[in-house]
Amino acid sequence: MWPYASDDEALRDALRLSKAMSYKLALADMPIGGAKTVVMGDPAKDKSEALWRALGRAVHRLGGRYIIAEDVGTTPADMCMIGLETPYVAGKQADTSTATAYGVFVGLRTAVARRLDRHDLRGLRVAVQGAGNVGGGLCRHLAAAGARVWVADRDGERARRLAAELEGAETVDAADIHRCDVDVFAPCALGSVLDDRTIRELRCSVVAGGANNPLADDERGGAQLARRGILYAPDFVINAGGVIGAAQEGVDIDGDRHAVDQREAFARTERIAATLIDVFDRAEREGITTHEAAVRMAKEKISG
Ligand code: NAD
Repeated sequence: MWPYASDDEALRDALRLSKAMSYKLALADMPIGGAKTVVMGDPAKDKSEALWRALGRAVHRLGGRYIIAEDVGTTPADMCMIGLETPYVAGKQADTSTATAYGVFVGLRTAVARRLDRHDLRGLRVAVQGAGNVGGGLCRHLAAAGARVWVADRDGERARRLAAELEGAETVDAADIHRCDVDVFAPCALGSVLDDRTIRELRCSVVAGGANNPLADDERGGAQLARRGILYAPDFVINAGGVIGAAQEGVDIDGDRHAVDQREAFARTERIAATLIDVFDRAEREGITTHEAAVRMAKEKISG
């Protein structure tokens, strides 16, 4: 849910997000396609039971071919309201971002080992853009592993609350977070934050975060990062934890659900590390960007 400026902008985002979902599910070895809903509106002002019920009815008309779950701007409480109209909704019991954040942490650790040959995160410097559900969860994992965290959010108060909770964490102005002199930049806010200007301004060795579609232009951005010697962990590889967890929640054909097995979801999420290593190896072997390597691998899986 986001206050998109126009129908066109919302549609473009829905198409880009659903494409990434297809790649994400393929690389997580889940034999299903990808899809996404966008809701035009301000999450702080425009939510209502009528809105969620209308969305629930729309999802229900698809007869289970689409299972909706939470993402930017929505919460498990919103999913519960959608659930008044349809059983085809995940993320009612637990916030999918918990597993997403864990997967991003696993991916970040893998990319750091690869690029910096560091296997201990103590003292690692990480700039996290976005102190929301995923960014907040990632910051907590990083702090627990002894990393130093800089965090920024458009909502400055949210970033301050998070930093106050973590040892050694500091807040940075949202406009400057990508320019921090760090080892890792972790985009965990919205998409398209890495364009010609911001990529030029990066001062990190690794980009690994939870945001969907962080590159404004996948091919161009991927190539610019590679030229600058920055290792990019593709979004749809490392932010798959949420959908892996949501699928664990599952919905059977009668619409009954079984409880999420968090341990199983986290164990499956750890496979992100092996997939990411395959992506890095393939990019090196074929002389292509890590984004392109991940897309090729996903397409091969989709075409069977
Ligand atoms: P959220 O709404 O909880 O948090 C996003 C935060 O980013 C908000 O606090 C917002 O104020 C902040 N923000 C927006 N623009 C910003 C900017 N330019 N600079 C700094 N902060 C900014 O959303 P979330 O669930 O944490 O999702 C974050 C990202 O991760 C999104 O791109 C989302 O699509 C992606 N993602 C989420 C999940 C999930 O399970 N929630 C799964 C996969 C991917």
